[in-house]
Amino acid sequence: MKELDQPRFRAKQLIQWIYGKGETSFDRMTNLPSSLRSKLAETSPLDIPEVVERRVSRDGSRKYVLKFADGALTETVGIPSRDSNKQGEARRLSVCFSTQVGCSMACAFCATGKEGFTRNLLPGEIVQQVLCVQRDFDSRVSNAVAMGQGEPFLNYDNLIAALHILNDPQGLNIGARHITVSTCGIPSGIAAFAREPEQFTLALSLHSAVQETRDLLMPRVAGENCEALRADLRTYYEVCGRRVSLEYLLISKLNDTDKHLDALISFCRGLHVHINLLPLNDVEGSSFKPSDSRTVNRWMERLARAGVETSLRDSRGSDIDGACGQLKSTLN
Ligand code: SAH
Repeated sequence: MKELDQPRFRAKQLIQWIYGKGETSFDRMTNLPSSLRSKLAETSPLDIPEVVERRVSRDGSRKYVLKFADGALTETVGIPSRDSNKQGEARRLSVCFSTQVGCSMACAFCATGKEGFTRNLLPGEIVQQVLCVQRDFDSRVSNAVAMGQGEPFLNYDNLIAALHILNDPQGLNIGARHITVSTCGIPSGIAAFAREPEQFTLALSLHSAVQETRDLLMPRVAGENCEALRADLRTYYEVCGRRVSLEYLLISKLNDTDKHLDALISFCRGLHVHINLLPLNDVEGSSFKPSDSRTVNRWMERLARAGVETSLRDSRGSDIDGACGQLKSTLN
């Protein structure tokens, strides 16, 4: 607005239109002079992503394949909570958004890694995913998680710029505590995230506290050993006082033996963490099998006995390939 010799308040009006109201056309921003509206449409098009595929799960979640201005495709999932208010509306609407097109981390169990990395998403492209879901459900988004495609901490600056817009009361007004970023464990990202003043939540994809197993499952983070990761988490808590959520995918015989459980319990000792066990979702071409329910129950029990707070992730949208680890950048 400054470059266009516009008064300061115009910037605020634009923020309210684009992010607060989710307006998709300058034409409808009626409190802006029409000359400015046409100038903006010409010089800075809004580039609203196109929904090229939309699938609705039996459980009510919806997966979108979105196409950006350059043709890049990415996936976003909208997940209404199962509990509803008196009007029968879901109490919460969560969006699982992507931060990159594809992913460079190549984790053995994840579909996104199989297709490689294309590019980072811009802050606007990250925010527009959330707005797309809001429009489609015609309901306010209450929670946002960076758990779609990509490694958020390899696109740190754009990620944080997007989180600020999601959190801004003039923008989407999503509370910082309702915004979660999941990382495979990029040390510089964990350190920087601790210093962000907002109460954002950090989740770490651990998947094994046994070094050889983690290296096998997550080859690109193999350089960072589990002890160093533990020290990073300790420092994270010292710096910001926020508890971290550890994600642990249970894969039959691979990371669900007693040895792995013992290693996880000792990893957690002295850390302020919460464990989120994830059932393995089907990924095409993968031979990994989910752990059986007896094993899952035993893990829940033993972790509880060891005093580690644990929950089991309610897997949603697997019938539309919209669940964790199933997102990719191609059409079906
Ligand atoms: N790159 C980040 C963000 C992705 S979050 C990260 O690694 O954390 C997606 C979550 O789903 C991660 O915890 C990931 O490990 C998990 N996931 C990947 N493949 C999965 C699968 N097949 N079944 C269940 N969860 C999976």
